[in-house]
Order: sequence, then C-alpha cells, then structure tokens
Amino acid sequence: MNFNNKDTFFSNLLAERGRPLVIAGPCSAESEQQVMQTAEALKKLNVHLFRAGIWKPRSRPNTFEGVGLQGLAWLARVKEELGMRVTTEVATGRHVEEALKQGIDVLWIGARTTVNPFAVQGIADALQGVQVPVMVKNPVNPDLALWIGAIERIYQAGITDLAAIHRGFSSYQKSKYRNAPVWQIPIELKARFQNLPVIVDPSHIGGTRDLIFPLSQRALDMGCDGVMIETHPNPAEALSDAEQQVTPAALADILDKLQVRKTNYDDAELVSRAEELRLKIDAADHDLIGALARRMALVEQIGEYKKQNNVQVLQLERWKEIFRTRADWAAEAGINTAFVEELYKLIHVESIRKQTAIMQAGNPGAKTDTNPGHVS
Ligand code: PEP
Ligand code: MN
Repeated sequence: MNFNNKDTFFSNLLAERGRPLVIAGPCSAESEQQVMQTAEALKKLNVHLFRAGIWKPRSRPNTFEGVGLQGLAWLARVKEELGMRVTTEVATGRHVEEALKQGIDVLWIGARTTVNPFAVQGIADALQGVQVPVMVKNPVNPDLALWIGAIERIYQAGITDLAAIHRGFSSYQKSKYRNAPVWQIPIELKARFQNLPVIVDPSHIGGTRDLIFPLSQRALDMGCDGVMIETHPNPAEALSDAEQQVTPAALADILDKLQVRKTNYDDAELVSRAEELRLKIDAADHDLIGALARRMALVEQIGEYKKQNNVQVLQLERWKEIFRTRADWAAEAGINTAFVEELYKLIHVESIRKQTAIMQAGNPGAKTDTNPGHVS
C-alpha cells in the first residue's frame, strides 16, 4: 500500500501542524438535543471532526444499541448548521450506504468489525467507486496483520484517504487500562506505512476520565497524529461508556495542557550532542549482545551436559531462582524489575529452544519441535 500524503482529507488537516488532529464527540448520539449541544461546545474548541456512534456494538444485548438511522439526520444537522465535519461508525455495507446518503464526511470501522474479514469485506464492497475518508480502528485482539488486512481491504476498494485509530487491545488480565495500549503495535504500523496517519483513542484505551490526558500526551510523544476523545455534556448520565467520557470543558483543559513537541532536533549543536549519546548507546548495546552471546554459548554447553546425562531440559527450581535473583539484581541496579522479568522470559524461551534442539538433534525419525509455543 502506498499512501498519498498530498491533498487528502487527513493530510490537509495535518498540514496545519503544531496542533494534533482532534476528533471529539459523544460515544453515542442519544438525542438531537445532546448532539447539538455537544457539537456547539466542540465547535468553539475548533475540533477538526465531530464523532458520534449511531449503531453501537455492545457486548451484552438489552443495553443501549444506538439510536440508528434517525441519528444520521442529527449529524447532518451538525454539518449543515455548524459547518463541522462529522464521522460515524459503520459496521455493514448498509450502514455505509445510509451514512453516505446523509453526507457523513468520514466513516470509521470499529474494533469489533475490524476483527472480522467478512464484515470488513462487506464494507469494502459498499465503498467501491466512492470517495470518502475512512478510519480503521485496530481489532480488539493484538494482531497487527489483521489490522493491516482490514486497511488493505478498504484500500483495494479504491479508498486511499485512510487513517488508523489505535484504541488498545482487550485482555483478560486486569490492568489500569480498559484496553491495553501495547504501543509497539501502532509503532510497527507507523514504521511500515509512513504516510498513514495514526490517531489514538485514549477514551477506549483508558476507560476512565483520569487517563485521557496522560494517554493523549503519550500518543503525541509516540509521534501519533491526533486523538479521538469521547465527549458528552453530562458524562455520568451517558447511555454508553459513561466512565470515560469528558465534558467539553474538561476536553478544553486537556487540549490546553497537551504539549506538542518538535518532531526532530532542529539545530546542529543539538544533533551533535544526540549523536554523542547515540554512539554511547551503540557501544552499550554492543556489550549487551556480547554478553548474550556468552550466555548462549554456556547454555549450549549445559544443553550438551543434560543430553549426556539424560536429564530433562526444564529445571523448574533453577528457573524460579533465575527469575528471583535477576529481579533482585535489577532492583539493586535501579532498573525496572518488571522490565527485567520480561526480558528474562524471552532469554529463557530462547535458552529452552536451544537446549531442546540439542536434545533432539540426531533423534532418528523424529521431527524436532523447538518452537517456543508463541503465537505468531
Ligand atoms: C466507539 O468509538 O465508540 C467504539 C465503539 O469504539 P471501539 O470500536 O474502539 O470499541
Ligand atoms: Mn465508546
């Protein structure tokens, strides 16, 4: 995919740099009055795009599933009377047709739709021959290929005015986030498609109002292009996502506080100091790789030793001891113990893989299974 970055909806908005792209509006359109009241307040904040969900994908039935078609007319009124551009979520080809009929400026595909290639293809088919900007949220599960696949389906329908929305990934594990941000996934997406704008949705990542500002700042610090923030005149009474919506006044504060940093060093002296530090970092990494190579050579020796003595690869007590002591060493050295634990999980997986290969080498007739068992 090759994203044109000239004269597209998103590139034109991004051209007014110095200010991230801001999309705001309620999770759901609830009434004409709520939509108009929110939009009027947001117009004063100069948000680029007004959002509201009309068809809401809810986890449980018998909850509020959106106002449906009538809500499109309210968005059309926002466009007509306030001159704002408007966007809504589409999940089927019929949604696309209805939204386009009402002149909705930008469409977005939600996380629960991106996850399903049949559904995305249905939307792509309805978009054939149409020119409308589309934003594709990541799938609920942390699967970059599935996210890219959905973007490709829309791209192949002829839509090149595209943006991605990072809204976090659901997980069973409890954390302070509603959906874990897993920043390396959007960063990898950015690295692969440099002209594809990436917008961050801190509302669905955070799930609570308090996290909206720090996540928005983080998004800008990661070089993302904008934010989508759910805004409601009376968040506590919202019919969906009440915990995470902010009032227009709170949004104004958040936008005010956001620091937009330079994308790069802008003078030669700054560049040369950064280069100096980078050289030192290179040297430290070189040492790290050397230490890893020494460790792996020792792992190989112990693998051979276990094989000669017919002792199984995994030694659970030793593994527990490694985990504990390395975490202690990390604490003593003043580095993040959780990070060192994660690192040792990786190192251990590799060391088990190497030893398993040694154990199984020359096993007559047996195919070796050294896969660490990770999903890839
Ligand atoms: C939304 O933006 O209101 C929404 C339903 O988002 P997601 O698809 O990210 O859950
Ligand atoms: Mn929502």
